[in-house]
Amino acid sequence: MAEPKTSELMEKIVSLCKRRGFIFQSSEIYGGLNGFWDYGPLGAELKRNIKECWWRSMTQLRDDVVGLDASIIMHPKIWEASGHTSTFSDLMVDCLLTKKRFRADQVEPQTGTAYFYTGAIDGGAGKESKDAFSVLVPAGKPPESARKAAKQFYQARGIENPALLGERTEEVKDSTRYNPENGSLLTEPRPFNLMLKTYVGPVESEDNNAYLRPETAQAIFVQFKNTLDVSRQRVPFGVCQIGKAFRNEINPRNFTFRSREFEQMELEFFIRPDEVVQKLTGSIASLSDAQPSPLVPQPNWGWELWHKYWVEQRIRWYESIGLGRDTLVEYWQEKGELAHYARACVDILFKFPFGTQELEGIAARSDFDLTQHQKFSGKSMEYFDEEAKAKYVPHVIEPSAGVDRLALALICNAYCEDQAPDEKGKLESRVVMKFHPRIAPIKVAVFPLLKNKPELVQKAKAVRDLLRPHMSVFYDEAGAIGRRYRRQDEAGTPFGVTIDFDTLGEKGPELQDTVTLRDRDTMKQERVRIGDLVSMLLEKIR
Ligand code: ATP
Repeated sequence: MAEPKTSELMEKIVSLCKRRGFIFQSSEIYGGLNGFWDYGPLGAELKRNIKECWWRSMTQLRDDVVGLDASIIMHPKIWEASGHTSTFSDLMVDCLLTKKRFRADQVEPQTGTAYFYTGAIDGGAGKESKDAFSVLVPAGKPPESARKAAKQFYQARGIENPALLGERTEEVKDSTRYNPENGSLLTEPRPFNLMLKTYVGPVESEDNNAYLRPETAQAIFVQFKNTLDVSRQRVPFGVCQIGKAFRNEINPRNFTFRSREFEQMELEFFIRPDEVVQKLTGSIASLSDAQPSPLVPQPNWGWELWHKYWVEQRIRWYESIGLGRDTLVEYWQEKGELAHYARACVDILFKFPFGTQELEGIAARSDFDLTQHQKFSGKSMEYFDEEAKAKYVPHVIEPSAGVDRLALALICNAYCEDQAPDEKGKLESRVVMKFHPRIAPIKVAVFPLLKNKPELVQKAKAVRDLLRPHMSVFYDEAGAIGRRYRRQDEAGTPFGVTIDFDTLGEKGPELQDTVTLRDRDTMKQERVRIGDLVSMLLEKIR
C-alpha cells in the first residue's frame, strides 16, 4: 500500500485520536483552548502505561534512584535562582497586519520581491502616517497584492483612503522578516517569558506573584538535602519525578507536540565532581573506555561517562517500549548550542510525520543548579562524601523527557494501514495501532463468538474475570467477530481471546476449556488452555 503523504498521514492520526478516544481538544464545546489537550479513555491508559514503565525502569528496578512528587507552584525565588525569571524566554515576532504571533526561530524563510513604503496619506481627510511598512511578494504574484496589503496596514492606522508613499522594491532571499502566510513585515524579534503567572493568596499584587512550574526539575534540586537525608543514598544517586509543567508557548503546534500544559518525566542524577573522582581512584575513565555495551557504572567514571551511560539507558528504554533505533536520532548539541552551564547535551529525536523532533534532552549540567540554590537560599547544598573524605556540591546529569510528546510518538509509530480478510475471506483494508504490548492501552479483548448463546457469554465473562486482576481487559460481544477484531486493531489491543463452541467441549473433550488467542499484528490464531492464559499473556505484556 502506498505510504500516505505526511500531512495526510497526520490528519488521519489526529482523526483516529478523536474517533477512538485517544486525544480530544480541551474545552472543545467552547471552541477549544489553543495548546491544551485532554486524553480520552484509550489515551489516559496509554499515558498511564508510559509513566508506569518509566517509573519502574528509573526507580523501582534500580537501587540508586528514588522518587519525588513535588508541588506545581513553588516559591518564586526558585525561578530567580534557576534563571527562568530572567532568561526563560523565546524571541517572538508579530505580523504587522494580522497581529498573529510567531516564534522568531520558527518563521519559514521567504524569497521574492519586497515592496517598501515610507508611509501613506489621505489628502481628503488631511491625515498622514509616516510608519514604514513592507510586504514580500513571492514570484508569480502580482504587485497589486503588495499594494492591497499595504493599504490594509495604513487603514488600520486610521488612514481611510491611503495613497501609498515612497514605493521601492528589492529582491530578497530566504528572509525570515516576513509572515509566510500573507507576506506582511513582522515586528523586530523581542523576548517573551514563557512562564505562566498566577497569584497566591487573596490579594492580587506583585508581592503575591507565583508561577506554574515550567519544568519539574527544580523541585528535585531544592529538595536535594531532604531527599538525601531520608533515603540513605550516597553520591552517585538520582531523584526522579513525573509531573505537569506549563509553558506559555508562543505558537503551540503539531497537535500535542508543543502544548502549553504537558507532563515531564525527569531524573536528576547526582555525581561526584571529576576532581573528586580523580583523587579517589587516581584516574578518570575517558569516552574511549566506554566498553562494553551496556555500560556498567564504575568508580572512575567522571561526568562524560555518566552522561554517555544515561544516553544509552534512555535509548534502550525507548526500544523496550517499541521505538526502534531506526525511528530515533541521537543529536549531540554543538558547543555553540549548549546552555552556558551545560558541558554536553544530547537530544533524542523521533522521526514524526511532521519532521524529526525532540523527545528528550539529556544534559550534563555541572553543579550549576545546586550552586544557584545554595546562593539564593543561603542553605548549604554541599555533600560530605565519606569515602572520598571530601565536601562538595554534586554535579548532575539530567535526562528530561515529555510524556505527551512520547505518547504522540508512540501513536505515530503505531499507526499502520494494511489488509485483512473479512468474514468471507475477502481482503479489506484495516487500520491497526501496533503498540508494543507493554504500553498498549488495553492488553487483551475477550469475545464470546456469539452473543445469543448464554453458555458462550457466561464462559467469556468468566475468562474476562480471570484476566482482569492482572491486566486491562475489554469485553465485547456486539457485532460480527471480524468487526470486533477490527475495533480492537484500531485501539491497538495486542491480543484477542475468543470463546467458541470448542471451548465448551462440543467438538470433544481435548479442546474443552481452550480458547483462540489472536495476535493483532500477524492475525494468527493459536489454541490455548484457559488455565495457561494469565501466565502466557503476562509474559508478553511485561
Ligand atoms: P523545545 O526546544 O522543543 O521547546 P526544550 O528543549 O525547551 O524543547 P526541555 O526544556 O529540555 O525542552 O524539556 C524537556 C522535555 O519536555 C522535552 O524534550 C519535551 O519532551 C518536553 N517538552 C518541553 N516543552 C514542551 C511542550 N511545550 N509541549 C510538550 N512537551 C514539551
